[in-house]
Amino acid sequence: MIELINKLEKERGLTLDEYEFLIENRNEEAAKFLAEKAVKKRKEVYGNDVYIRGLIEISNICKKDCHYCGIRRGNKNCERYRLTNEQILSCCDEGYPLGFRTFVLQGGEDAFFTDDYVCEVINSIKSKYPDCAVTLSLGERSFESYEKLRKAGADRYLLRHETADKEHYEKLHPSDLSFDNRMECLKNLKKLGFQTGCGFMVGSPYQTNKTIAKDLKFIEEFKPEMCGIGPFIPHKDTIFKDYPTGSVELTCYLLSIIRLISPDILLPATTALGSIDPIGREKGILAGANIVMPNLSPEDAKKKYTLYNNKLSSGAEAAANKRMLEEKMKAIGYKIVTNIGNHKKGN
Ligand code: SAM
Repeated sequence: MIELINKLEKERGLTLDEYEFLIENRNEEAAKFLAEKAVKKRKEVYGNDVYIRGLIEISNICKKDCHYCGIRRGNKNCERYRLTNEQILSCCDEGYPLGFRTFVLQGGEDAFFTDDYVCEVINSIKSKYPDCAVTLSLGERSFESYEKLRKAGADRYLLRHETADKEHYEKLHPSDLSFDNRMECLKNLKKLGFQTGCGFMVGSPYQTNKTIAKDLKFIEEFKPEMCGIGPFIPHKDTIFKDYPTGSVELTCYLLSIIRLISPDILLPATTALGSIDPIGREKGILAGANIVMPNLSPEDAKKKYTLYNNKLSSGAEAAANKRMLEEKMKAIGYKIVTNIGNHKKGN
């Protein structure tokens, strides 16, 4: 194991079989060794800085019916909402003085968000806050659509690939959703110059060590600027309601591996990690993550944007409680910074 981890550090990649072996045979000693190496790499690139992103959940209306997701189209118990341009801007108004310099607009695939509308939202944020980055996470759109959003000034785009195994993808999604299209979207985003983020849920139904090995290989080859991984957490109104929650331990182990594959990657300790473990965020940072994404959404939206059971949005997860988050990060030796937090290329 130690030799394999040294190889990963040196070559920034492994074969599919080696990745699988690394996951299959993990133990406490290997996890510790990996995390030490990952933290060393992250410090070489980002020091002790933790970048923050203000997450604004702009709509929970979605035309997709992903089997795992609480805001999927078919969930009749989900109370729907959509924020107006003014409401989105007032979230930014709240976040800016708190030190947020990136706003992440995330939502379901809501047909109301036409290209023109999203461009207008981007324009209004960028003209009021030109020193801030806008990240979008609005799902699959056409090349032309992504191009318009990019031209309007969006800087980054998060689109988790969900799984790099086509068969697995088809078990997580209904038949009208296509693995190939998801992958095509990611390629298009990169082509258009977005800082692009992929990612997946750890412990999603039907996931195996083989499919995770494929995820890691995909990350190694695609070279995303960002990668969001967090545990799968069941939602009561989905067909996966009785499946087990993903593990904090494996999520952290994978965060360390991803940091070694790509030392300069922007890697969040996700809300899902914080939702299943009171010190999940801290564990993520100590495994090699360098981002946290506190929630800037209005209270009512936070309650309705329920992707999974017991999703955290209070305490240090609320942007308004940034001080609390600062204390938590300080306690483990890290510092929240007021910084646009761009990807540092070439490390
Ligand atoms: N609609 C956009 C998209 O598909 O990329 C963005 C919103 S979507 C709700 C954001 C992410 O939430 C998904 O990519 C998925 O990985 C994650 N997610 C959804 N349901 C989840 C669950 N039950 N547990 C953990 N993460 C979940």
